[in-house]
Amino acid sequence: MSAADHRLHLYELPRAELTARLAEWNFSPVHAARLWNYLYWECADSLAAMPELPAKVRVRLEETFRLGGPALVREAQSTDGFTRKLLLALDDGRVVETVLMRFTGRMTACVSSQAGCAMGCVFCATGQMGFQRHLTAGEIVGQAMQVQRRLRGQGERLRNLVLMGMGEPLHNYDAVMRAVDILRDQNGCALGASRITLSTVGVVPGIVRLADEARPVHLAVSLHAATQAERVALVPVAKKWPLDELIAACRYFCTKLQRRIFFEWALIEGKNDTAEHAHAVGRLLHGLPTQVNLIPLNPTAGFGGEPSRAEAAKRFQKILVEHYGLPSTVRQRRGLDIAAGCGQLAGADRERGA
Ligand code: SF4
Repeated sequence: MSAADHRLHLYELPRAELTARLAEWNFSPVHAARLWNYLYWECADSLAAMPELPAKVRVRLEETFRLGGPALVREAQSTDGFTRKLLLALDDGRVVETVLMRFTGRMTACVSSQAGCAMGCVFCATGQMGFQRHLTAGEIVGQAMQVQRRLRGQGERLRNLVLMGMGEPLHNYDAVMRAVDILRDQNGCALGASRITLSTVGVVPGIVRLADEARPVHLAVSLHAATQAERVALVPVAKKWPLDELIAACRYFCTKLQRRIFFEWALIEGKNDTAEHAHAVGRLLHGLPTQVNLIPLNPTAGFGGEPSRAEAAKRFQKILVEHYGLPSTVRQRRGLDIAAGCGQLAGADRERGA
């Protein structure tokens, strides 16, 4: 598809808008329903693969919309077989990465919401590359459909979606929410709201908006530090949205939606993994319905920190659980051999041993 193709992508439209568009053209809602089924159940990637749609409908669609993409550039499989990373090209030539993770009994897609990222987290390969542009809703949906297409070929379906790939989802709020609505549609991908998790580094207005709009998604906040000074050193955007404002927004979200929040903590040896750090987190999150996910740091070229040792991770977790009653897990690190772990996505052909 050339960059000069200005037709709207079919993945940009929720079912109601697509149905309305076909109605404007005097086509039956039956055709709209069949089209939707082709798109999101059969995972068709071209109008030619929709033979049950009348030719006049396909011709009209072809004039107005495009389909296919983001295009697969490269695919890499981790040696443990649990993680697969897709390097995908957008129409303007920029690339993003999407990761498919297999856990016991469930398949999870980790999709990107931006090319690059403006947040600048120092330990993150995406942050190190800077911001390129927001993705459209169709480009976010298209990543999930790339995964869905693969799974369909194996007789499986996507069950879980995490917006934890490249980019800060709440910095691209409208497109992300439009994509989530499309992927939740019960006549299509039918992803359950309880199976969609959005990760933010702490975009306070976005958290408040999620709460005010009662968006039915899980929220994960990348915390990484329990004091303002330490957080700013790791997550520069904390200067704009300080820690006290972030925690206040989290409390608002939990109270308003009666829902818990996940906090993510990249464990960096000697920097944020001591007993004192664990106690500081425990005090900070006191009273919040939450779970703390501890993730030993994944290496990136632009950051010299090392992952915490297993004993430090266990000690940290023990303090949270035993002193503060905070549920906590130490996450398994996966896909490191293909640079598909948290914070490693860089939209570049960096696979090793692929
Ligand atoms: S961790 Fe997330 S928010 Fe921070 S720079 Fe990386 S992609 Fe952006």
